[in-house]
Amino acid sequence: MQAQFIGSHPAADFLNTAFEPHGEHVEIIGDGKSLLEWLLAAGVLDAEQSARLSRKLGAKGMDAAAVEVRKLREWARAWLNRWRTAPGRDYSAEITSLNKLLASLNVRHEVTRTKEGLERAERFDIDSVDDLLAVLASQIADLLTQEDPSLLKSCAGDGCTLWFLDRTKAHRRMFCSAAGCGNRAKVAAFRERQRES
Ligand SMILES: [Zn+2]
Repeated sequence: MQAQFIGSHPAADFLNTAFEPHGEHVEIIGDGKSLLEWLLAAGVLDAEQSARLSRKLGAKGMDAAAVEVRKLREWARAWLNRWRTAPGRDYSAEITSLNKLLASLNVRHEVTRTKEGLERAERFDIDSVDDLLAVLASQIADLLTQEDPSLLKSCAGDGCTLWFLDRTKAHRRMFCSAAGCGNRAKVAAFRERQRES
């Protein structure tokens, strides 16, 4: 099973590294190697950062990193699930935990020359598990502070557990993908109508 990038937000794509199509559990970041692959595919790390992290941590260290990253993901999933339905509640314990992770954020500012001229960019130094967790936590922080909680949705498809941020204008997105769950729901509704008539 391939990694899914249907979340319309990096933090939602992160949650989608574990999902259950048709009741069977799929883990995209089960070990260090698959974690590195996902981080690259998701654009969390570029090739240089990924090579550097893997060199620093080694294979065993990367496996241990995957355990920590999965823990962060499940913690975030539980919190985000509560946040989207009850955004007004007191989340001070969760916020404290998030801030602890963010404290390790290693940001460097760089000026680079592009075709358009000079550009200032942020660059993360990711040399340890804490640095990596901090970058993922920062994407979660972006979701919490910049987006509308009610627009974080889980797919309405039967048995589908994928998440996405609904960025459509009318806010009526219901499915992970129109071709996948959307289409299956359409077919099911069509059959239902046929049975009734
Ligand atoms: Zn779906």
